[in-house]
Amino acid sequence: MSKFWSPAVRELTPYVPGEQPRERLIKLNTNENPYPPAPGVEQTLRDFPADHLRLYPDPSATALREALAEEYGVATEQVFVGNGSDEVLALAFQAFFRQPRPLLMPAISYSFYPVYCKLYDVAYRSVALDDQWRVPLTAFDTDNGGIVFANPNAPTGHGHPREAIAALLERNTESVVLVDEAYVDFGGESAIPLVERFPNLMVTGTFSKSRSLAGLRLGFAIGSRELIEGLERVKDSFNSFPIDSITIEAGIAALRDRAYFDACRERVITTREWTRRQLETLGFEVLPSQTNFLFVRHDAYQGRMLFDALRERGILVRHFDKEALSDFLRISIGTDDEMTNLVEALQAVCR
Ligand code: PMP
Repeated sequence: MSKFWSPAVRELTPYVPGEQPRERLIKLNTNENPYPPAPGVEQTLRDFPADHLRLYPDPSATALREALAEEYGVATEQVFVGNGSDEVLALAFQAFFRQPRPLLMPAISYSFYPVYCKLYDVAYRSVALDDQWRVPLTAFDTDNGGIVFANPNAPTGHGHPREAIAALLERNTESVVLVDEAYVDFGGESAIPLVERFPNLMVTGTFSKSRSLAGLRLGFAIGSRELIEGLERVKDSFNSFPIDSITIEAGIAALRDRAYFDACRERVITTREWTRRQLETLGFEVLPSQTNFLFVRHDAYQGRMLFDALRERGILVRHFDKEALSDFLRISIGTDDEMTNLVEALQAVCR
């Protein structure tokens, strides 16, 4: 604590991301993709002329936004890009949620949301998940200054179909509904086709998971022109060059290879369902997942104990100290070999 910090910073409890260990561990703790980015990305990085780095990047990253617009069937003016979806979300909180009425969010969701609320002075109210650990879309009332949730949700893994989001948007027309689709490519249903119908819908996405580019930092938002303009206003008042030239080129290359993208996510889904069956055989409760992770618990073993036992065996998963989640482990889907190792380690622990 320093007297030089502004009051909001003194009160802040920053988000603590999963560990990035320096030892060689099987790393199943931050939902990265176990497979490399599309081959075209590697080629692009190899061919990138270092001399281009003398120049500032295109401040509006038009070429990348055009590629995203084509991918998602929207106009280029409906696409915003940022330095990871974390940054896009931060800009959205500033642009839309500093309202007299509170922001609504699920009590269990991405733990960055309450951090942004503190940082940007956004009042919020959290709404309990339903009895099956699902985001309670029908429990969000309309007396709000915005709604945010991840779909599929993290760390629980369940995703609502597009119709359920549409029903929420039919009811809630006066504030922004922000749907964070970081994990949607692993079996979820995107709300992006709804942006034409609902000017208050903003959807965010990321290249960190299904496109294997977490190290590059590239996220995006898709919404009506008025919402995108709101984000641009905040961005231009903060950093007019959020995306660097290398990220622009690599992002375009990743979008070009549809076959690789599909093969990669199918593979993750297949491995996820194999892992589910193995864990169920060991007596775990495994929540349904449309993501690249599983959220699991075991009646007979505490989450922390399982986390420690796996770590001793060289496997890193995620355990949350938060009371409501302390029974659970969140396990990212790795390669088949990594998941076989995980299952064998758990067989040894849960004997
Ligand atoms: N939303 C959710 C729900 C996440 O789990 C993550 C990754 N931790 C993000 C957004 C941010 O992803 P990135 O900044 O890498 O795009």
